[in-house]
Amino acid sequence: MTATVIDGKAFAAKVRAKVAEEVTRVKAAGVTPGLAVVLVGEDPASAVYVRNKGKQTVEVGMESIEHKLPADTSEADLLALIAQLNADPAVHGILCQLPVPDHIDADKVLAAIAPAKDVDGFHISNVGLLATGQKAMVPCTPLGCLMMLRDHHGSLSGMSAVVLGRSNIVGKPMAQLLLGDSCTVTIAHSRTKDLADVVRGADIVVAAVGRPEMVPGDWIKPGATVIDVGINRIEDGVKEDGTPRRRLVGDCHYDSCAAVAGAITPVPGGVGPMTIACLLANTLTACCRANGLEEPAGLTA
Ligand code: NDP
Repeated sequence: MTATVIDGKAFAAKVRAKVAEEVTRVKAAGVTPGLAVVLVGEDPASAVYVRNKGKQTVEVGMESIEHKLPADTSEADLLALIAQLNADPAVHGILCQLPVPDHIDADKVLAAIAPAKDVDGFHISNVGLLATGQKAMVPCTPLGCLMMLRDHHGSLSGMSAVVLGRSNIVGKPMAQLLLGDSCTVTIAHSRTKDLADVVRGADIVVAAVGRPEMVPGDWIKPGATVIDVGINRIEDGVKEDGTPRRRLVGDCHYDSCAAVAGAITPVPGGVGPMTIACLLANTLTACCRANGLEEPAGLTA
């Protein structure tokens, strides 16, 4: 079997188009959704993420509010800015780009964001709402995985799913979302025994471990759907100038998994592009909820 490739780039473009359409509807009701992104320090990777988020926010017709603070910003000043954004009715989503410098307690900052504006879905209130099957702001990467799975399968009810990884950002919320869609869910991690056998039983495998090509094709049940969240930069030979050639790979060994799976997301171009698309979807959802407007269908859990 050769797997169907789930094209995350194309799917993310569809999600952004849907968000843009809904932003037009919301604007007609007199509200412009606004996303505030806070960046502390000069981490180059974070600066690129923030730039991309700002660009895509504007492209879908939303307001992008960027706060770039110097690396020596005090925790108190950052918390004061969050409080100001919490109170600002033009701001519907707030995101503080992680990591923050060591002298700032990231947990304290995340806890300070108003849950209704917590478009990353990391606030403990949203974690609790998701865990109890209530309306929450859902973390963007697992939400993107869920959207792709629903799009591919329609109903996920009754399917067996294995989530590899138990982080608060990906693994745990992913498992909650799959449970919410009535999958039978196993969460595997570094202490899981007989991991290959655990994975072999699954109709859906979501890999979020951060280990390059850890899952080989012979762990995959024939016809299963493989969602590869991992983003790992590996060295692959040398360039003409003698410097190492690098490329991105997922947590699954793509060629061998694609030979067995029914469907698979590639890396790059799979889950990655969905994350910002879901951030925009969450901002729109937060804006609709804050203003008593109808929430768009298909853009949340
Ligand atoms: P974490 O490092 O926080 O969590 C990794 C998880 O994998 C842990 O639960 C760990 O288990 C488990 N694990 C590690 N090694 C093994 C192993 N050998 N066998 C089984 N389980 C193992 O990572 P994240 O969840 O933050 O990210 C995971 C991957 O997803 C990374 O590659 C990251 O770059 C990528 N990512 C991609 C995003 C995107 O937009 N596409 C967004 C977020 C992350 P234990 O708890 O026991 O230590």
